[in-house]
Amino acid sequence: MLTLEGKTALVTGASRGIGRAIALELARQGADVAVNYARNAEAATQVVAEIEALGRRAVALPADVGDFAQAAALVETTVSALGRLDILVNNAGIVRDALLLRMQEADWDEVLRVDLKSAFNVGKAAARVMARQRAGRIINVSSISGLMGQVGQANYSAAKAGLIGLTKSMARELAGRGITVNVVAPGFVTTDMTAALPEDLAEKMRMLIPMGRFGAAEDIAGVVAFLASDAAAYITGAVVPVDGGLSM
Ligand code: NAP
Repeated sequence: MLTLEGKTALVTGASRGIGRAIALELARQGADVAVNYARNAEAATQVVAEIEALGRRAVALPADVGDFAQAAALVETTVSALGRLDILVNNAGIVRDALLLRMQEADWDEVLRVDLKSAFNVGKAAARVMARQRAGRIINVSSISGLMGQVGQANYSAAKAGLIGLTKSMARELAGRGITVNVVAPGFVTTDMTAALPEDLAEKMRMLIPMGRFGAAEDIAGVVAFLASDAAAYITGAVVPVDGGLSM
């Protein structure tokens, strides 16, 4: 038990996949959770119900985290609904894959907006609240694509690599205020995002993974909960691959 008792968390993109697993794991460890989503209100409401069934408080909050004003309002609403903000997980993300020579400007712009600028948007608003509390945990969900690059993902890899630079700068700026900022970099995880991979390609990927399997969303959630806990009090600016050994 990591004990996040009495803590309040905001998880972006928590209606599905990895974000959902993170929200549930933080609640299992004792936190109250704001469940952000973009469009899928029904799925977010379901996650809220599951958290409440664990005996924790939860709210579903729609916001496009790539939008600066909506991100600031999201943090404000979280604090007014749950009382404080101790843990922020910047998890929301999208892909718009295409080979570089075919990639449209709009694909580049939208992925950088949702996958990178969002962490600046929500992180800045949350850091202000956490600095006042002189305590906080920010965990950004990057990807091994940001460490290794990936064919067809120039936009996504750039955004996910950018998250690492953002994290390290924020970690240095906020360390004196009692706020840690870290990155988890998942490998291939079974969610809607990877469901579109053709089976032969998925099999090729699997063969490259030393542990021989795709990750489960829960594999990522456990590491995030650890980074959010007191057990990780002396870790900041770290990049933690959670990828079955793929990126080593
Ligand atoms: P997913 O199943 O596609 O879920 C994406 C989540 O992000 C949904 O909750 C979605 O909300 C939300 N979202 C999308 N755009 C948003 C926006 N503009 N504002 C707020 N929320 C938004 O994705 P996933 O596989 O769980 O991925 C979660 C994170 O892990 C992403 O950052 C992804 O890049 C990263 N990651 C995933 C993998 C993988 O293999 N799956 C690997 C490495 C890293 P709605 O339900 O409302 O659409």
